[in-house]
Amino acid sequence: MRLTGTGAGDNIRGMSRESEILVIGAGIGGLTLALALHARGLPCRLFEAAPEFQPLGVGINMLPHAIRELSALGLQSGLGAYGVEAREFAYFNRHGQAVFAEPCGRFAGYEHPHFSIHRADLHKVLLDAVRERLGPDAVRLGHCCVGVEQDAEGVTARFDGVEPAAGSIAIAADGFHSAVRRQFHPSEGAPHFGGINMWRGVTRRKPFLTGASVTRVGTVARGKMVIYPIRQFADGTQLINWNTEQPRADHKPNDWATPGRIEDFIEPFADWRFDWLDVPALIADAEFILEYPMVDRQPIGRWTFGRVTLLGDAAHPMYPRGGNGGAQAILDAEALARLLDGFDDPKAALQAYEDERLAPTSEIVLTNRDQPPDYIIETVEALTGGERFERIDDVIDPAELAAISDRYKDIAGYSVGTAKR
Ligand SMILES: Cc1cc2nc3c(=O)[nH]c(=O)nc-3n(C[C@H](O)[C@H](O)[C@H](O)COP(=O)(O)OP(=O)(O)OC[C@H]3O[C@@H](n4cnc5c(N)ncnc54)[C@H](O)[C@@H]3O)c2cc1C
Repeated sequence: MRLTGTGAGDNIRGMSRESEILVIGAGIGGLTLALALHARGLPCRLFEAAPEFQPLGVGINMLPHAIRELSALGLQSGLGAYGVEAREFAYFNRHGQAVFAEPCGRFAGYEHPHFSIHRADLHKVLLDAVRERLGPDAVRLGHCCVGVEQDAEGVTARFDGVEPAAGSIAIAADGFHSAVRRQFHPSEGAPHFGGINMWRGVTRRKPFLTGASVTRVGTVARGKMVIYPIRQFADGTQLINWNTEQPRADHKPNDWATPGRIEDFIEPFADWRFDWLDVPALIADAEFILEYPMVDRQPIGRWTFGRVTLLGDAAHPMYPRGGNGGAQAILDAEALARLLDGFDDPKAALQAYEDERLAPTSEIVLTNRDQPPDYIIETVEALTGGERFERIDDVIDPAELAAISDRYKDIAGYSVGTAKR
C-alpha cells in the first residue's frame, strides 16, 4: 500500500491525516495491528470507545502462534516479565484423575513460548509499545465509533459526540459488539448462546502441579473448570486464573465486567478436593468473580466492504475455548499489515486479507462449539460413564486422545510445524 511517496519512510514523513489508516478499537487486535502497521512504515491512528483503560477480565493463554507474531514485534521479553511460561496441558476427570497430559510451548518443541498471562498485563505491554513507538496520542480514548462512511478517496469514521476522523481505510477491531459489523450486517441479530454459563475468578495461592500447568477438569454437563497460573510473585505464590462452565437456560448480557456469585455455580465443584488441588478453597478465596455467557456468532461470509474491513472478535467472535480468540486477532493483524504493505491498492489488500483469514477462522468458530481441546475429557467421560477408572490405558489408547488435541492444533494453526513458520 503506497499512500504517498515511494517508501515506508516517505509514507510516515509525507503522511497527511487523510491518508492514515483508521483502527477502530484498541483491544488486543487493534493494538497489535497498530504495531504491525508501524513496523512496516504504514501510519495509523486508533480510536477507542473507553474513556480510560481499566484492568479488565482475568487470564488469557497466548499460544506459540500468537507469541510468534508478538515476538516479531519485539514484545516477547515484555510478556515474559509478566506472564507464566506454561509447561503442560493437563486434563482430568471430575474425580481429579489424570486423563491426558502433554507438554506445551517450548517444552513441546515450539520455537516460541506459551504464556499464561493476566489480560491487563497483555494489554499494558501492547499499549505501552504503541504509545512508545507511535506516539502518546496514537490512541484516542473516548471515541465510540457509530459508523464508517466511504467514497472513492477514503473513509470517514463517525463517533458519538466527538469530531469525525478521515483516513484512507478503516479497520474495525471493535470487539464482540462491533458497531461497524452491525453497520454492514444489520440483520444479524443477537449473539448465539450455547446454553452454557461461565464464572471466572483469580485466587492468589501457592503453585499446584508443575507451577506452570494449564489444566482442564471435568465436563460441561457435570461442571467443568479450566485452571492455570498467570502471575508469579516474589514470595513464591501465584495468581491462579480459574473458569467454570455449566449448562444454563438463560444468561446475562456478555460483558466482561459482570460480577458473579459463588452460590450460583459452586454446587458441582463442592467436593472437588483433589490431591493436587482443593478446588472449593480455590473458589472461596477468589479476589473477585465474574460471570460471562458462552456466546459466539455464526461465521459471516463477508468482512470487507471496499475500504473497510473487520478484524478479531468483530470478524469472528468465538467461544473462549482453546485459547484462540485473542490469538486469531493477532494473526489477523499480522496478515492485514503484510498484505497492506504488499498491495498498491488498499481495497485489494483488504479483500486479500479476507480471502486469507475468513475460512480458517470460521472453522475455528465452529470447532470451538463442538470439539475444543476439552473434548478429550468428554470422550473419556462417555467411555467411563463418568465413574473412576483404574488405568486410563484400559479406557482408551492415549494416542486417540493425543489425536483430538492434534486435530484442534491443526485447525487453529498452532501445530508445532505450522507455528514455526
Ligand atoms: C472468558 C474469556 C476467556 C478468553 N480466553 C482467551 C484465551 O485464553 N486466549 C485467547 O487467545 N483468547 C481468549 N479469549 C478471547 C479474547 O479475549 C478475544 O478474542 C480478544 O480479546 C479479541 O480481541 P479484539 O481486539 O478483537 O477485541 P477486544 O479485545 O474485545 O477489543 C475491542 C476493543 O474495541 C473497543 N470498542 C468496542 N466498541 C467500540 C466502538 N464502537 N468504537 C471504538 N472502540 C470500541 C473496546 O472497548 C475494546 O477496547 C477469551 C475471551 C473470554 C470472554
